[in-house]
Amino acid sequence: MSQQRSADFDVAVIGGGVIGLTAAWRAAQRGRSVCVLERGALGVGASHVAAGMLAPVSEADPGELALLDLGLRSARAWPAFAAQLSEAAGIADDEAPLLHRCGALVVARDGDEALALERELTLRQELGLEVQRLLPSAARRLEPALAPTVRLALSVPGDHAADPRALVLALAGAARRAGAVLRTGAAVQRIVVRDARATGVALTSGETVAAEQVVVAAGARSGGLEGLPAAARFPLRPVKGQLLRLRDPEGAGLVERIVRFEGGYLVPRGDGRYILGATMEERGFDTTVTAGALYELLRDAAELVPGVHELIVEEMLAGLRPATPDNAPVLGRSDAVEGLVWATGHHRNGILLAPVSADLVADALDGAAPPAPFSAARFARVSEGATA
Ligand SMILES: Cc1cc2nc3c(=O)[nH]c(=O)nc-3n(C[C@H](O)[C@H](O)[C@H](O)COP(=O)(O)OP(=O)(O)OC[C@H]3O[C@@H](n4cnc5c(N)ncnc54)[C@H](O)[C@@H]3O)c2cc1C
Repeated sequence: MSQQRSADFDVAVIGGGVIGLTAAWRAAQRGRSVCVLERGALGVGASHVAAGMLAPVSEADPGELALLDLGLRSARAWPAFAAQLSEAAGIADDEAPLLHRCGALVVARDGDEALALERELTLRQELGLEVQRLLPSAARRLEPALAPTVRLALSVPGDHAADPRALVLALAGAARRAGAVLRTGAAVQRIVVRDARATGVALTSGETVAAEQVVVAAGARSGGLEGLPAAARFPLRPVKGQLLRLRDPEGAGLVERIVRFEGGYLVPRGDGRYILGATMEERGFDTTVTAGALYELLRDAAELVPGVHELIVEEMLAGLRPATPDNAPVLGRSDAVEGLVWATGHHRNGILLAPVSADLVADALDGAAPPAPFSAARFARVSEGATA
């Protein structure tokens, strides 16, 4: 594969977040020479901020059935993916498990929220998803730290969590061991396109890295890369999320499951650390942290789990989810530019979708057509339809 051509690499991957690194690892496993170009340090984007929920059932939306299917498929792939990755990275999975099997509780605080939760239950039952209705007493038996004010809860035993920062470290190790070159401080300015074919990337330093195929996995910035014709582009916007990283000085056990509520969630890492998130804000490329957002998250979480008051604040941060108009990712070959492969638009689900995305990207590098619901062409069709 790598002999009869002049390119430096078979594949150049733009972006060293969870999506770019997973794709790079899989492509290198399939025998390709791969170079990841990351403008900062590995995993500094949304992957550094993400809560890491693997929660297709809690997040199911009747308007997003293709995304739900993809999420369920990826959730099923996660246990084998985590085990294989740990082995490939040389990490003992029992010491630092990448996957935390914790389950989730979705909780209502008042009558209106309880009614909404009943509708969510019906919807999930109609879709054949595993979810149980719990009266407050049963919910509090499972999670004694819940406040007595809880009105109703749904148990979602199949939703779990991963630690995205540990995931980035493992992916970097596995990708390097598989032969991938990971370059940090390498900002891509432009995708080099000749005769409607991607031939590599130009860095802001002036250097060009030649590649047979280029994978765009630059997260929320994937839409801003220069060099592509208008026909290859699609709408992508950043959706800001603020959250807190908390730690219980008493160790693990305040809550064992993910606790989700209207406007937020508390995700246990299983070792006394918790992620309390997250806002959804349309503010462009703004990653400032605001007092009002954190106040509301803490107020709402502490109302449901009063023990939150005692947790130590370790970090307050904001990240940018890469979002398309239909909230689903763009995965696979571009129709408009030969040799260009998209791996972006994962919005709220990039950690969940990493295993299945990487397989689809590796298939695309092998020549497979993109699955229709996730092709970039779906947006071209929408705008053609609108014009007609
Ligand atoms: C607050 C918050 C909570 C979240 N919670 C969850 C969750 O619970 N579960 C879940 O599944 N998902 C969650 N997500 C979503 C998840 O974080 C993203 O979908 C995922 O991280 C996207 O990964 P990525 O690799 O595409 O992007 P990123 O992690 O943003 O990586 C893109 C990388 O590209 C680099 N880059 C950008 N431009 C260039 C360039 N020109 N040249 C070179 N490199 C470049 C960036 O520096 C960055 O490192 C959350 C996101 C946020 C913000």
